[in-house]
Amino acid sequence: MIPSLLPTYNRAPLSFVSGQGSWLETTDGRRFLDLAAGIAVNSLGHANPDLIAALTEQAGKVWHLSNLYQIPEQQALADALVELTFADTAFFTNSGTEACELAVKMVRKYWYNKGQPERVKIITFEGSFHGRSSAGIAAAGSAKMVEGFGPLLPGFIHLPFGDHEALEKAIRDPELAAVLVEPVQGEGGIRPLPDACLKGLRDLCDETGALMVLDEVQCGVARTGKLFAHEWAGVTPDVMMVAKGIGGGFPLGAVLATEEAASGMTAGTHGSTYGGNPLGCAVGLKVLQTVSEPAFLEEVNRKAGLLRQKLEGLVDAHPEVFDHVRGAGLMLGLKCKVPAADVVGAGYDAEMLIVPAGDNVVRLLPALNITDEDIAEALVRLETAAKALENG
Ligand SMILES: *Cc1c(COP(=O)(O)O)cnc(C)c1O
Repeated sequence: MIPSLLPTYNRAPLSFVSGQGSWLETTDGRRFLDLAAGIAVNSLGHANPDLIAALTEQAGKVWHLSNLYQIPEQQALADALVELTFADTAFFTNSGTEACELAVKMVRKYWYNKGQPERVKIITFEGSFHGRSSAGIAAAGSAKMVEGFGPLLPGFIHLPFGDHEALEKAIRDPELAAVLVEPVQGEGGIRPLPDACLKGLRDLCDETGALMVLDEVQCGVARTGKLFAHEWAGVTPDVMMVAKGIGGGFPLGAVLATEEAASGMTAGTHGSTYGGNPLGCAVGLKVLQTVSEPAFLEEVNRKAGLLRQKLEGLVDAHPEVFDHVRGAGLMLGLKCKVPAADVVGAGYDAEMLIVPAGDNVVRLLPALNITDEDIAEALVRLETAAKALENG
């Protein structure tokens, strides 16, 4: 008999009732160290007092309006994002997937309005992840995600990750609208695109007119130690997808764009019932104000250095379990020699949450404000997990 919850997830037998900072408590009273943060969502940890205040204060005023009206919290968040990033304009969604939908529509509409309606194709990369909608799975194109769901949205060109020659060739396709890429692949196994590649991609886009769309749903919002990951490479995109960390746990996403890239999106071309609702935007503004502070970003970088150094030591001490550390900031991956799922399971036994990813990697995506004590505790638990796997 089918369970009452549609069985699309293989859920761990763990049931959490409350959280505090980087800790989660189960129904039977066990405390788990959370290095998953809801997959890079709980950017300021669980039960953050500032976010509770922002949410409850807004909840006492008004929950939902409609985008038929002005929403002051939404306007404030858009203004703050425009102030802090390359973008001239923002549209709010409830998820990364919805941000992907709009990004795809936006780049196609851009060329349509420019009188080049044939420019509809979008280059994406093997191992990428852009959400579970029909456009999202067509964009990523992995067999696992698309099988049985056809006919797929056409127009995506899938290139091998890091294949410059293939890119050089494909980008000159006269029907190309845009290139869509994650600066650091998340689901694909914490694979950072080298800064030089992102710069080279920017140059190729400038040369051919193709729009550069960055999916910073997982790597954005201070995760890598800059407000957005592309800042490390010193280039800016034309369009960017944001979600996950921006809401700190409240469903919120956005598409940010330059005035030029957004020029096709006029009144009536897109919309959302819940996107940009007062609750999400009030929380999102508090998150953004917090993580964009230079002192906060400095701390993310310091903690990232500390965690990474300790992880290098862990890998050295357990060469049969781990191969190497990779990633950027507090978006770190341990490439495993044993099945990554076993490492995640040993983590559960050690009362710690870590996340599997592609390429046999386990991900560590802790709250950005994880304490030094909790980083030390993470290493104790990772040691326990590694030893259990060596002895198992
Ligand atoms: C999670 C994720 C998405 C999809 O976001 P949802 O909020 O789950 O719809 C898209 N792109 C990337 C890079 C992601 O990590």
